[in-house]
Amino acid sequence: MSIHSTKTKYGQRYLGNSNEKEVHDLENEAGVCQIDEIIQADHAVRFNPDSLNEAKRNGYDNCHWCIGNSKR
Ligand SMILES: [Zn+2]
Repeated sequence: MSIHSTKTKYGQRYLGNSNEKEVHDLENEAGVCQIDEIIQADHAVRFNPDSLNEAKRNGYDNCHWCIGNSKR
């Protein structure tokens, strides 16, 4: 098992909230992001490729807390 993986416990770096149309950086997750709640509510979206650009391309806005530069 590698300890050098940049992947988080979720196996991905970016996670979208399909309800809020916001993307979170799981490597910089803040408590207010409520990632577990997003997953439990079945609003979690993965991007392919797993990048911020791909999230933007899909119309997702940055989370104010873990990424910043939110447009809202
Ligand atoms: Zn966030």
